[in-house]
Amino acid sequence: MRSFPEIQNQSYDLIVIGGGINGAGIARDAALRGLKTILIEKGDFASGTTSCPSRLIHGGLRYLEYFEFNLVRESLREREILLHTAPHLVRPLQLSVPIYSDNSRPYRLIQTGMILYDLLSFDKSVPNHRMLSFAEVRQLFRALNPKALKGAAQYYDAQVVYAERLCLENILSAQDAGATVLNYVQVTDLRQSQGHISDIICKDQLTGEEFKISAGEQTVVANTAGPWVDHVLKSSDQPIRKKRLIGGTKGSHIIVPAFPGAPDTALYVEAASDNRPFFIIPWLDRYLIGTTDIPFTGDLDRVKAEDQEIEYLITETNRTIPTACLTLESVLYTYSGVRPLPSTDEKSPAGITRKHILHDHASEGVANLISLIGGKLTTYRQVGEEYVDAAYRKLGRAVPSCHTRKKALPGAIDQTDSARAEVVAQYQSRVPLAVIDYLFSLYGAKASEVLALTEQFSDLGESIVPHQLDIKAQVVYAVDSELAHTLVDICCRRTLIAMQGNYGFDALSAITETLVKHCGWSQERSDLQLAAYRTHIQTHYQPDYALAAAQA
Ligand SMILES: Cc1cc2nc3c(=O)[nH]c(=O)nc-3n(C[C@H](O)[C@H](O)[C@H](O)COP(=O)(O)OP(=O)(O)OC[C@H]3O[C@@H](n4cnc5c(N)ncnc54)[C@H](O)[C@@H]3O)c2cc1C
Repeated sequence: MRSFPEIQNQSYDLIVIGGGINGAGIARDAALRGLKTILIEKGDFASGTTSCPSRLIHGGLRYLEYFEFNLVRESLREREILLHTAPHLVRPLQLSVPIYSDNSRPYRLIQTGMILYDLLSFDKSVPNHRMLSFAEVRQLFRALNPKALKGAAQYYDAQVVYAERLCLENILSAQDAGATVLNYVQVTDLRQSQGHISDIICKDQLTGEEFKISAGEQTVVANTAGPWVDHVLKSSDQPIRKKRLIGGTKGSHIIVPAFPGAPDTALYVEAASDNRPFFIIPWLDRYLIGTTDIPFTGDLDRVKAEDQEIEYLITETNRTIPTACLTLESVLYTYSGVRPLPSTDEKSPAGITRKHILHDHASEGVANLISLIGGKLTTYRQVGEEYVDAAYRKLGRAVPSCHTRKKALPGAIDQTDSARAEVVAQYQSRVPLAVIDYLFSLYGAKASEVLALTEQFSDLGESIVPHQLDIKAQVVYAVDSELAHTLVDICCRRTLIAMQGNYGFDALSAITETLVKHCGWSQERSDLQLAAYRTHIQTHYQPDYALAAAQA
């Protein structure tokens, strides 16, 4: 895979720049339809915006306010497809919208929205909405602030607990279908010749090695760099466009432990201070609360929740559930990302469309380049389908039919699958049942491959940290089978160890010991990686006030 001289000698039909969910979905679709594809990602797969969402696979109830009916319908259709093609990762989630008499959205408006949402998801497998009276909401959510409470709406969307793994499974599926997928390779230069991108200069971020990928008339170049789309365009030797395509907005979440009055299911609440809806979502036995929506022009590689955003989310949660009594100290960590939205004159970030746009640069004199603007986690498959159709048309070839509506992701398995029972029977004597169940929730059908490692080396069946379910085999699996190169890859994107306790610090010594023993890591590499891991946590997850307190 990482043989750059070999890559230099190849010609590709499609070169995808950016390995977030959209690049991954395009590469998978393209490889499955027979395009010779290479995907290049400057960091790790899903290390950009894809690792910072609210983790909902949703129709976008809110978009109804902006009359974006097509977007809502498309998202609801994609939600249903993902519930079937990735049942191990995407699960139905019940949400409740408490309605207060002083909300900007009155009861009748919410009810109308709910009816529309049901109509637009006529082919869904989850239940329709229901409206709750004051008495019913009080019974179900005793801790909700009762002042001015009128009732609630209850409906279903879906949750992807491990969004990072949804992206990874698309990457691995693309690779299985013949695509070359490279993480830690940055595109540094787009070279043009005769109205085409002719060469793409890349730099391996692990070794510093530079190499070139040839493009040309018979190659389509997909700029799916998310919020970095304009940076990629600027790296061209000849200017491609003056105006920005992306007008990114930053969104932050806080993660807090279960608090007094914490709901069993998700809440979607209108914030009193600015009428924006925000989520309080059960996630990994904790609560994911967000998000904010703020225009962002800063350093895309150092995006972090500001103290003000954290205070906003705490205040609004306490207002909704007074027993929560959250304080800054309650916040375990935060994460933030930048939505790759189109650059517009729209003043309100919430009003910027969430529709995706394929921007063909042919009109600007570059015939083989298409940039993606926008594209939610929910709709990545549809983006892939549209993009690959467009690529075939650009290449002047007949467009073959797309497979991803039906083709399951590599780990797809449901709770009742008999293969699951066989795996349980095979490994139950070696590994506790709770661990096997947990591995299924993370890897789906691929849990059997993780467990198979414990047959080869019994120590790999041991837990990484005594009170958590992750086992050492996952570390080896991440490196051997899931293209992980760093401790951050292993703890933040192959597993979510970093999000489970003390930023994953408790787990690091067992992980590095496993890497030294089973993956050929040197002690020196481990030490360097440990330092890089701590920096990553401080840069992205640890709130500034907590950092200052820790350093005092
Ligand atoms: C706060 C927040 C909440 C959200 N919640 C949801 C939600 O609940 N549901 C939902 O459907 N959507 C949600 N979204 C939207 C969704 O997360 C994003 O739209 C989506 O992840 C964008 O994916 P992407 O692949 O386009 O971009 P990214 O994930 O950012 O991927 C782009 C990649 O390109 C790489 N790259 C950049 N420059 C180069 C280069 N020169 N060479 C090689 N690679 C490069 C980057 O490293 C990056 O990994 C949310 C977004 C935010 C910010």
